[in-house]
Amino acid sequence: MTKQLSNFKSCTRQERKDILKSIGQPAFREKQIFEWICKAVLSFDEMTNLPKDLRNSLSESYSFESAAVELVQVSKDGTRKYLLKMTDGNYVEAVFMKYEYGNTLCISTQIGCNMGCVFCASGIGGKIRNLEGWEMLDEYLICRKDAGEDINHIVLMGMGEPFDNYENVAEFLRLIHDPEGVGLSYRNITVSTSGLIKGIKRFSEDFPQVNLAISLHAADQDERQQLMPVAKSNRLEDLIAACREVSEKTGRRITFEYALIAGKNDRDEDVKKLSSLLNGMLCHVNLIPLNPVVENGMKGSGRDAAKLFAGKLENAGIAATVRRSLGQDIDAACGQLRKKHT
Ligand code: SAH
Ligand code: SF4
Repeated sequence: MTKQLSNFKSCTRQERKDILKSIGQPAFREKQIFEWICKAVLSFDEMTNLPKDLRNSLSESYSFESAAVELVQVSKDGTRKYLLKMTDGNYVEAVFMKYEYGNTLCISTQIGCNMGCVFCASGIGGKIRNLEGWEMLDEYLICRKDAGEDINHIVLMGMGEPFDNYENVAEFLRLIHDPEGVGLSYRNITVSTSGLIKGIKRFSEDFPQVNLAISLHAADQDERQQLMPVAKSNRLEDLIAACREVSEKTGRRITFEYALIAGKNDRDEDVKKLSSLLNGMLCHVNLIPLNPVVENGMKGSGRDAAKLFAGKLENAGIAATVRRSLGQDIDAACGQLRKKHT
């Protein structure tokens, strides 16, 4: 029987340093290897500035496995939707998008999701497992290599709830920010949460420069908990109070995501509730035309209605934009590509 080798990529930088030191290697070797990892090489053999005997001995003791592109759908507007096969055979999605300010990658943080929001395809089937920090970095590295372009913004808005996987997400952010690797600025990163209050508070202490987006979707406790079960234990008034505190402390604008669902949360009374809820907060509302998900039969309000809703919010003194719909001609809604494929 062949021995199962552990994956050298899955070690932390400190673990790799310790391993290399224990086999008598100088301290700079780990940095060289980390640089190769960040170039998305697929084997020790591609690390041409390492001595041949070191490459050989590492490949005898460790595997070097990466996520791989299983499928990519390319839209006319340049959006690239990836289905990635992780090293254990599970699938996640990542989406490359082109904006005026640069290229953005939407990254998944878990395989599946336990939050059960009724409008979301990622939650159907629950959570299979958390992604580790190096696997989220792998999403970035593999997609960047495939797209052949630099990616200078990331949003943690793919499959999964980031604050249900706090430690790994924090590890990932430190890894992608590491100046010896990708060196992405914290200000170019946005983390989106369904509203886990403890996570929001902790995160604002640990990463005050990272942008925070809150999936709000309703300005009323009853309505919100019908759409998002997580709202039962993370009540709207407590969530908003935490957001006010965080934006005052960090001085950064919080984004509230609001998917417009016809007849449910897009009425004039919703504009009123939403504007009084957010009144005076350093924030911005991002209106998302709901992506239809076959499984739940919900209808989006449409782009014109979204623009109208945005105008009414602006009149009430709340900054609002309608999110550009990218990749309309491909399976755009989170979780749909994976659902179709698995
Ligand atoms: N779990 C995190 C981040 C991933 S979801 C969160 O919920 O915030 C990213 C965004 O897509 C969230 O705002 C989510 O509410 C939204 N979303 C999920 N399903 C959607 C759909 N069918 N149409 C439009 N937006 C959707
Ligand atoms: Fe999970 Fe976010 Fe989808 Fe809710 S919207 S089920 S939290 S991925």
